[in-house]
Amino acid sequence: MSVASGARLRYPGRVTLGPLLVSLGALLAIAPNDADARAAELAIAPVSGPEDAGEGPTAAGPIATPPPATGHGDAIPRSAGQPTTLYINFDGAVLRSGCGNDAHRDCSTLDALFDGYVGPFPGSLNQKLAIIQAARKDLADFGVRVVTERPPDESEYTMILYGDLGPQSFAGIAPYIDCGDLWPSDTGFANAYSTSNTGSTIILQEAAHTWGLEHVNAPLDNMHPFKTPSVQSFTDACQPIVASTDLDATGGVCNQVHTLFCEVGHQNSWQELRYLFGPPVPDTSAPTVEITSPEDGSVHVLPVTLPLRGEIHDDLGLQVFTISVLQDGAELFSSELGALDLSLTNPPAGDYDLTVRVSDEAGNVGEASVRFTVLPEGSPLPEPEPEEGADGGCRVGPRPALAWLLLPLLAPLRPRRRRR
Ligand SMILES: [Zn+2]
Repeated sequence: MSVASGARLRYPGRVTLGPLLVSLGALLAIAPNDADARAAELAIAPVSGPEDAGEGPTAAGPIATPPPATGHGDAIPRSAGQPTTLYINFDGAVLRSGCGNDAHRDCSTLDALFDGYVGPFPGSLNQKLAIIQAARKDLADFGVRVVTERPPDESEYTMILYGDLGPQSFAGIAPYIDCGDLWPSDTGFANAYSTSNTGSTIILQEAAHTWGLEHVNAPLDNMHPFKTPSVQSFTDACQPIVASTDLDATGGVCNQVHTLFCEVGHQNSWQELRYLFGPPVPDTSAPTVEITSPEDGSVHVLPVTLPLRGEIHDDLGLQVFTISVLQDGAELFSSELGALDLSLTNPPAGDYDLTVRVSDEAGNVGEASVRFTVLPEGSPLPEPEPEEGADGGCRVGPRPALAWLLLPLLAPLRPRRRRR
């Protein structure tokens, strides 16, 4: 079931929907702080697909976006062409007030909306991966890295808290439309939808507001004020800027940037992001792997099920890694997984020296090895050897047969589905 088929949208007070838009439960707009506020709402409906069962929020709501920040207004862009980072925070945060919207310190001028706290995303690892991959796909043309671990303090990053926002009438919210992205490290919010199409659209629209993008009347664009049945993206076309969910045309606010590419009243979201952040930055950092189980040098007696677990760290955070297990250069197992969490069931007796090889989505490879011994059923466990002075030399046993079972404990990821 596609996201789109479950999404239902309705324009308040209007019945002139085209077939692209589906209807949504009640649209409740957040009251803006400012009388001049331009209503900006993205309405997202929950989708009851298989991925969604029992996960995430079920109430539909608009994304409400307050007006451009006071005194920030129209502006020429930050030094254009410099890459940035989008940090999708699935872990929740205690918000701070009185420090603007600084992502480094979890600051938000909207903290009162959430009683100062956003809970972690309650969904599964595979749901997180699907959301991340959808967001990365939409940003693939730009110098925007999408990470899931907080970047170093000295770097600039936009943070979208993707989690439990508490009872809200909206699906996501940004503090302002930051023309030219003059304030580069903002905090925004998205409610914890479990489907990737819906989740990534909310994340990207809120992040893009903090980069200076406004709403456009273009159902295929991520900046359309409603979630549409289409897979939305940042489109390379001049789209009409709208001031409200009634799709009323407006002259736009961030025209110093918009008019670099379009006539007044229009916005080209693809060109603006490309201008602000430049082309994509290749990922050249390899993941690191640390095997935590079985313990290196450990001895086990059959029958036994040995967990093969470890920590994978990569500068981009969560990814679909290709994880391979090798012995003597022979591949025993390979699968696309989000984590190293396998089990060895009754491996044949012998000495093992396994290498776990982890390849990130860009093909950067990291690996680690672990040695252990499996003894035949009924064998006594050897006495621990003294740390020093042992004189037995090293023991070289026959390599065991390779036909034992190696099972992922997590369900293998589904093949990446084509998005319509
Ligand atoms: Zn919006």
